[in-house]
Amino acid sequence: MSYNKVINFIKDLYGNQEFTPLAVPVFPGNEKKYLNECIDTTFVSSVGKFVDRFEEDMARYTGAKKAVVCVSGTNALHMAMMLVGVERDDEVLTQALTFIATCNAISYIGAHPVFIDVDRSTMGLSPDALKTWLAQNAEIRNGQCYNKNTGRRVKACVPMHTFGHPVRIDEIAAICNEYHIELVEDAAESIGSKYKNIHTGLFGKVGALSFNGNKTITTGGGGMLLFMDEELGAMAKHLTTQAKVPHRWEFRHDHIGYNYRMPNINAALGCAQLEHLDEFIENKRQTASAYAEFFKSVDDIDFFTEPENSFSNYWLNVVILKDRNAQQQFLQETNDNGVMTRPIWELMNRLPMFEKCEHDSLANTVWFADRVVNIPSSVRLLQ
Ligand SMILES: *Cc1c(COP(=O)(O)O)cnc(C)c1O
Repeated sequence: MSYNKVINFIKDLYGNQEFTPLAVPVFPGNEKKYLNECIDTTFVSSVGKFVDRFEEDMARYTGAKKAVVCVSGTNALHMAMMLVGVERDDEVLTQALTFIATCNAISYIGAHPVFIDVDRSTMGLSPDALKTWLAQNAEIRNGQCYNKNTGRRVKACVPMHTFGHPVRIDEIAAICNEYHIELVEDAAESIGSKYKNIHTGLFGKVGALSFNGNKTITTGGGGMLLFMDEELGAMAKHLTTQAKVPHRWEFRHDHIGYNYRMPNINAALGCAQLEHLDEFIENKRQTASAYAEFFKSVDDIDFFTEPENSFSNYWLNVVILKDRNAQQQFLQETNDNGVMTRPIWELMNRLPMFEKCEHDSLANTVWFADRVVNIPSSVRLLQ
């Protein structure tokens, strides 16, 4: 077996378990206490103090002016699209290298994703590729950006901070600004990750986080919207809670609203997890640095490290197989030997729902798809 040394190193790092998973949650603190409190007080559902507390704690943690909980990261992204005014038949610029939720959220509106290449240094949307695509395809009419070829309005851009590594978000923000395009960050994977010392998700109008079970902290399932614009945040709160006009007993609603609010029982879990987030990230960064050191001694594999100007949460660790034909064998050997690994998501432009969408050369995107493998990345419980 050619990857014996790698398999043994990973097993060792995670305490020689029979099976080493990719990313599993850990519950070291007040999780049970807060959950019990929900049950004991009967506040398990759409009302309760943990919802408010989780939003306040997260706003404080990230530096957002307002944070609004959602039932999932996917519906946080859906809400984000609506909040920035994406409409049916608009185009939204994003990555082919992302999890399906990004494109699903765009599709719920009836808008069309357009796939722009990623950077080799970040694995996320490339400002250079974005600029090139816009220079070739976009024109500004009446203060709005249009695609000259399709005639459709280009309303928004959704970069994704892949595996927790921040994209060059300030450059992307400047380009969006120049072209009158709304910026929404898919920060589902990058809680705690910063670009130039600012939390990811705060560079555009809206940022979306996820608290799914495999993410850095979990609420079971859940998501969140981050805002620097308090008014837009208040609108998000209103729309995610059925757009009910506050009143002691009347049921009056002033918009088509959504039942996207995270239940109190999930928020309770989130509050407890957030108390340990910095510790989890420190732990994950130590794991990443152990990997980085180890893979220096492995000729045919590179370990992906955080880009310049960034602080990464190292949500999922990435190795790059120098030989693009080695990916299948690496996956086979590791998974056969109890070390869970997986390739990057099938590229969005290769899925039947999105294969007709426009895209640029996607040269770096395809380069990564052929070579990236995620390796175990859970928080290590150190005895
Ligand atoms: C996890 C994730 C989401 C949101 O997923 P949910 O499971 O709905 O919380 C969105 N985008 C990306 C890139 C993700 O990794």
